Amino acid sequence: MTHAGFDATVLTLYPDLFPGPLGIALSGKALETGLWTLKVVDIRDHAHDKHRSVDDTPTGGGAGMVMRPDVLASAIDAHHVAGRPLIYFSPRGRRMDQALVGELKAGGGATLICGRFEGVDERVLEARPVMEVSLGDFVLSGGEFAAFALLDAVVRLLPGVVGNADTLAEESFTDGLLEYPQYTRPREWEGKTPPDVLLSGDHARIRNWRKAEAERITRERRPDLWRRYKKEEGQTNESD
Ligand code: SAH
Repeated sequence: MTHAGFDATVLTLYPDLFPGPLGIALSGKALETGLWTLKVVDIRDHAHDKHRSVDDTPTGGGAGMVMRPDVLASAIDAHHVAGRPLIYFSPRGRRMDQALVGELKAGGGATLICGRFEGVDERVLEARPVMEVSLGDFVLSGGEFAAFALLDAVVRLLPGVVGNADTLAEESFTDGLLEYPQYTRPREWEGKTPPDVLLSGDHARIRNWRKAEAERITRERRPDLWRRYKKEEGQTNESD
């Protein structure tokens, strides 16, 4: 199906997990209205022995089980659309970030391979154009949790999913900074009130305060992001 949205194909041993959390709220509504599509493939349907086995013991010995390359490759070959990103979730992969989310969204679709057990036979990662993507420096029991996170992040960027497009322009990472502090009613809570400037009605002052706070928080909490932001800011000023 071609449209302005996103076509996701998920290869998993646990198809019943989907759409799961993606079936509610913003992503659920968008799925219902066809802003994105989700095709869930049971890798086990591509097993070819009478026990429908998808895994086997590690060559060379050791704990756990490894997903077989032949079964997984047959699922990939049957369902992956050539030219689209083919992602295998793995702690060894490129760390997922907003830049990757934006690239995937722009591509219009992707195939996501969810590993289980000790992971997949290395040969399938070499034989197919697989990009490894990690959710972070920790170990999950399955790639499905990374798939939920990635798809949620992509889908909310699609036109029409988040009601007010300004929300997307102002949030963390979009401009290289973390978000400024947010407040709402009640005006006073446990003796605390929001900063006066936010109650001033002076939009220019509010904008300046928010930018300064976003910079302060990024500098304090994420020196890595802060360095990149300063570098890019320097480049922008030079070309001015
Ligand atoms: N033995 C592997 C971990 C396997 S965990 C190792 O030491 O690297 C089982 C599956 O969960 C993996 O195949 C992968 O698909 C998924 N997974 C685990 N941690 C992940 C992470 N940080 N990011 C993305 N996927 C992960």
